[in-house]
Amino acid sequence: MKQSQLFVPTLKEAPKDAEVKSHKLMARAGLIKQTAAGIYTYLPLGLRVIKNIEAIIREEHDQRGCSELLMPALQPRDLWEESGRWGQYGPELMRLKDRKERDFCLGPTHEEVITAVVRDYIQSYKKLPLALYQIQTKFRDEMRPRFGLMRGREFIMKDLYTFSESRADLDAWYQTMKIAYTTIFNRCGLETKIVSSDTGQIGGDAADEFMVMSEVGEDTITYCDQCDYAANQEFSGLSEGDPCPNCEGTIQVAKGIEVGNIFKLGTKYSESMNAYFTDRSGHRQPVIMGCYGLGISRTLMAAVEQHSTDDSLLWPKAITPFHVHVIPVKMTPENEDAILSLYNNLSRTYTVLLDDRDERVGVKFKDADLIGLPYRVVLGKDFKDGLVEFTDRHTAETRLVAVTDLPDLLLL
Ligand code: ATP
Ligand code: MG
Repeated sequence: MKQSQLFVPTLKEAPKDAEVKSHKLMARAGLIKQTAAGIYTYLPLGLRVIKNIEAIIREEHDQRGCSELLMPALQPRDLWEESGRWGQYGPELMRLKDRKERDFCLGPTHEEVITAVVRDYIQSYKKLPLALYQIQTKFRDEMRPRFGLMRGREFIMKDLYTFSESRADLDAWYQTMKIAYTTIFNRCGLETKIVSSDTGQIGGDAADEFMVMSEVGEDTITYCDQCDYAANQEFSGLSEGDPCPNCEGTIQVAKGIEVGNIFKLGTKYSESMNAYFTDRSGHRQPVIMGCYGLGISRTLMAAVEQHSTDDSLLWPKAITPFHVHVIPVKMTPENEDAILSLYNNLSRTYTVLLDDRDERVGVKFKDADLIGLPYRVVLGKDFKDGLVEFTDRHTAETRLVAVTDLPDLLLL
């Protein structure tokens, strides 16, 4: 892509309300733009990263036997009355009426809709298990939307729902998805800790959260310095220095960003919404459910928080908006053909951003630091002799190399 044609509105100053580094950078790098409190437009660069994260999620779900569908964001009150949550959910639920004064909400989560979608179909154990997921915009009228995409009122989530005939099968899905989530976050350049949590608004029997340890996290994690015990402080009630409930160790406390949350729902929704099946011995049973949420826009934010300094970003290769930034110091009628030919060649294998703008090189470098691509190729005075300045920003090493050697150096 030519940078002159890409909409990247970089800013010198971060918006005043941006409190944390990632929010400031995402606004300055032209990744997102606020439309209203807690509501954002994903600009082209930000959207490319979102799409990369989504592709990783799809791969890790599809290969484990989950199938993708897309449910409506607009949900009728009747379904929420069936589960009992219309009255319970509180002011976070965005409620609205249609022209006939019928009540609807904008989905903050989809247990009701998915249960209504499958309940007529899963009448026999032969139809189970079933694992269905979607990637969708969710709506929650958060009391304190803040930190950019961290706590939005409109945000992108992947939500998966599993339907099982037995507790053992639910346990197996739960285990599988723990591994899937850890893999997804690792591929996005994030290390996560799995912590036990409360089941909250969603309900059910057990829940675990995936936390990225970070000072800007809104959750407090209590974890053992010796065993793998870890729990959200809201759930454990422990403090720094307390004895570990599982071993001889001592409790430590740290902040975390919740990027995912998985729940063993059990039969909460199947009982209230009448999703029953006939089991192997001919008995009617409520189907056993699990749900698994992953915050995609929050994951993007966490990745920026972890992979940046105050003035520059450095994308993990798997989610970077482009692999290579090609920056001609100056484009002239004499060198233009050679530049375009290099750009076209690289574009066959890599995603390439060519800074063809008529800007001073200092401006180009400042923007390039903000945009944060992992590889940089600067076409300077030696370009006429077939040499370019190559930087692998992950190793911070810069050297003069032959154009023909670039394919050996650009490793994905
Ligand atoms: P929180 O405790 O942060 O309010 P939650 O526990 O209510 O989140 P879940 O219902 O578990 O959220 O949603 C699944 C995932 O969706 C969360 O782990 C998080 O990554 C993401 N998420 C939830 N609320 C928001 C939000 N307001 N903005 C962005 N992402 C969110
Ligand atoms: Mg949660």
